[in-house]
Amino acid sequence: PAPPPAQHLFSDPSEIDTLRGNLLAWYDKSKRDLPWRTLAATEPDADRRAYAVWVSEIMLQQTQVATVIDYYNRWMQKWPTLQALAQASLEEVNELWAGLGYYSRGKRLQEAARKVPWCWGVGAFLDPSAACGSVLAPVCLASLGLCAAATRVVTELGGQMPRTAEELQKLLPGVGRYTAGAIASISYGQATGVVDGNVIRVLCRLRCIGADSSSPAVIDRLWDMANALVDRSRPGDFNQALMELGATVCVPKAPLCGECPVRQHCRARRRVEKELAFASQKLFGKPAPVPDVEDCGFGDCPLCPPATEPWDSSLGVTNFPRKAAKKQPRVARTATCVLERRGCHGALEYLIVQRPSSGLLAGLWEFPSLALAQGLQEEQQREVLADHLQACTGRPVAAGDLRLIGEVIHVFSHIHQTYVVYSLPLDGDVTLDPALSPSRWVTEEEFHTSAVSTAMKKVLKACEKQHGKDSDHGKASKRKRGAKPQGASSTRPGTQLSLRAFLQAPTSL
Ligand code: SF4
Repeated sequence: PAPPPAQHLFSDPSEIDTLRGNLLAWYDKSKRDLPWRTLAATEPDADRRAYAVWVSEIMLQQTQVATVIDYYNRWMQKWPTLQALAQASLEEVNELWAGLGYYSRGKRLQEAARKVPWCWGVGAFLDPSAACGSVLAPVCLASLGLCAAATRVVTELGGQMPRTAEELQKLLPGVGRYTAGAIASISYGQATGVVDGNVIRVLCRLRCIGADSSSPAVIDRLWDMANALVDRSRPGDFNQALMELGATVCVPKAPLCGECPVRQHCRARRRVEKELAFASQKLFGKPAPVPDVEDCGFGDCPLCPPATEPWDSSLGVTNFPRKAAKKQPRVARTATCVLERRGCHGALEYLIVQRPSSGLLAGLWEFPSLALAQGLQEEQQREVLADHLQACTGRPVAAGDLRLIGEVIHVFSHIHQTYVVYSLPLDGDVTLDPALSPSRWVTEEEFHTSAVSTAMKKVLKACEKQHGKDSDHGKASKRKRGAKPQGASSTRPGTQLSLRAFLQAPTSL
């Protein structure tokens, strides 16, 4: 294909040099202090460094930095190495991930960790400091033929994390082009660019790219640009600087152009300045200037905004980037039942069941739930849920015993989910048929530390709120029942009245 017009390119090597220098100087001065950055800068072992960056990149997909920090610290404390993560169960991973959303990320991370070579047992024998933690180093049970784990030594990738972006992407499940580029540039110093949402925004503004930024043609151009711009001697820092700029200065709605270290290279900003200059010239009756030869926007440039959505002066630099309209999320309804009982110490307990190991919220725990067909009336919902609970528990459940709590809405990335919440108190030890799904009773505290989704936490909250209202209502009715009729003496029976009270007290004849 023909090269894009100069307006959308970085073709001057001296401009690229200046931009790199300005951006890196700003980054050195202004970068946020983040735990994964500290690890990437201080960890001498390349595999551990790559692992630390990898975990952060996966957590940061779709999630804000402020939310990720606590999860990241807990994760790295629990599984400081790939070897440690490879030994973790999906249950443990889901428990730690609970609340971070997009649960398949944690699952894929753990699956990928198991592909990377690690030695559990034999490694401890050769190098006691590499002991897995469950082996009492320096005596390695594998050497005595007693270590069951030694039979699980994984050798698929031959002893090391892949060392280039291409190999990382090819060999590790769940590692795409962006994550591979980030790990390789930050951990190994490979001079390769990265393109994420922040970089797309910055580059589209720097070079006035207004075509749909999610289209393959634009994405390819942005990758070319990122690879051309990346600093050869500090690629990891450069990539992080570009992303940091997008996250803190060149933000989506109100970019801080006045503080931007690369504003002199920004064509979106130049366009805004030109418009302001034209407007003031017009005010003073001066003729409109001749269009800049660098200006694009004529004909059918594949990187300019489409003719149907031209530059909008009121938006300024935020004319860029542009995205195709988002697909509306699918609407779904699910009936869910909070089954409750009093445990042996009188504490309230809830029955939770585990979801299948694949698909949405794989392996997470939830209250017994059932997807509802569209258009069911409340009575029908109640009936199908009662049938479902009956089938699962193997004991009769009357639809009329289910208590409607209300509706809880949770929006997943692509599903607008409504949970119709019911509750049902039970006696005795009910479990679901293990052939259908594992289940267990948990206290409220155990519920919150289990691998449950945010949506289920909302469901429990709705239920507790309703119970709270009930108990307030109960107390109020009791008070009402126990209240004395107006004018009645507040004196307890059998208490002697004062003369004054005696004279004021109502008399019955
Ligand atoms: Fe973004 Fe403004 Fe900087 Fe351009 S000058 S890159 S629009 S912050």
